[in-house]
Amino acid sequence: MNKIKMSTPLVEMDGDEMTRILWQMIKDELLLPYMDLKTEYYDLGLEHRNATDDQVTIDAAEATKKYQVAVKCATITPNAARVEEYKLKKMWKSPNGTIRALLDGTVFRTPILVKGIEPAVKNWKKPITLARHAYGDVYKNTEMQIPGPGKVELVYTAADGSQKKELVHQFDGPGVVQGMHNLDSSIESFARSCLDFGLSTGQDVWFATKDTISKQYDHHFKDIFQKVYEEEFCEKFEKANIEYFYTLIDDAVARVMKAEGGFIWACKNYDGDVMSDMVSSAYGSLAMMTSVLVSPQGYYEYEAAHGTVQRHYYRHLKGEETSTNPVATIFAWTGALAKRGELDQNEELSAFARKLEKATLQTIEEGKMTGDLAAMTTIPNPTILNSRAFIQAIAANMQ
Ligand code: NAP
Ligand code: MG
Repeated sequence: MNKIKMSTPLVEMDGDEMTRILWQMIKDELLLPYMDLKTEYYDLGLEHRNATDDQVTIDAAEATKKYQVAVKCATITPNAARVEEYKLKKMWKSPNGTIRALLDGTVFRTPILVKGIEPAVKNWKKPITLARHAYGDVYKNTEMQIPGPGKVELVYTAADGSQKKELVHQFDGPGVVQGMHNLDSSIESFARSCLDFGLSTGQDVWFATKDTISKQYDHHFKDIFQKVYEEEFCEKFEKANIEYFYTLIDDAVARVMKAEGGFIWACKNYDGDVMSDMVSSAYGSLAMMTSVLVSPQGYYEYEAAHGTVQRHYYRHLKGEETSTNPVATIFAWTGALAKRGELDQNEELSAFARKLEKATLQTIEEGKMTGDLAAMTTIPNPTILNSRAFIQAIAANMQ
């Protein structure tokens, strides 16, 4: 058999714990037998991040700017326990946070639908992709407890020293205040990423805020989205027969529950934090969810939405077999390979990625799956496989 060739490498970011074990299995069983896999390898495993003072994470993000497409394994974000466990020089920052800051991207999360794993919302027939703005608002706020009577004001001091003031509240007793901000540049690139993703996947884009109540703040988001849409996307959307749709956030929530899916839901930072957990659990599981970081410059980083599955890894270290679900990690690879194929006009490569996805879903639909899915499937008497046996069953379907 002729192996599939690649002209441009993928940026490969290896990771930690159980997902690092799955990573190697996927390469050995599902990729290397069929293709001359070309990657530029960066080891983002915690030991190597520590050894390089986290420079490897920055290098991997820079390489993504060079090659445009990356695939990333889940990684540990150190906390105090990890600093002790890995004898770290310091509590290194979240690699995802570092990469997101360097690529200025938006994360899009889409459930992977398969027969036998039914969404809790019965009319959801197609995936809903959630796009969360990742800068500002309550995540970069300033807060203050107000101990007693007094006046709270917002004060803006311009570069020339002139001031603008707005009364927040005249307190008669104790209370609390919060100030938050966002940036036009960040909102604009969020809007552009969402509209671009809609265009490239042929799906409508929904965006919602509470602009009737927040007449300056939320209304500003609405205006910026509208401006980016009109100036850069309106004609392209009409040609592609897709729609940009703005509504109030409470109306959006009600409509989402009655919709059949198949659109992108762009959310402000807080809304996205809350709604992504609701949407992903209603669709089934984080192990059945794709996640891609898209930058406004057109860089793509594919990953799984879940973590390193630490508890399974400790069982693996004790020599026990684990039934860890590799689907989200397989789809990170197929997403990256398909995008590489698209950019390089390498149709064979894109077709291979789609076949691997199909073989993965077919394996589950045949009743062969990992324990997490077996616990929720509507397929009677599923066969529970360990990770390697499940991956080998996919390989058999690939053949
Ligand atoms: P996790 O790795 O997502 O796992 C939490 C639990 O969810 C697991 O113990 C397991 O439940 C279930 N689970 C998650 N993925 C699964 C899969 N593929 N197959 C089967 N079950 C799965 O979260 P965590 O254990 O809280 O975090 C572990 C590490 O991951 C942390 O150090 C964190 O920093 C890191 N993390 C990384 C990323 C990323 O790189 N994108 C994201 C989140 C967390 P059972 O044990 O009940 O089977
Ligand atoms: Mg959250």
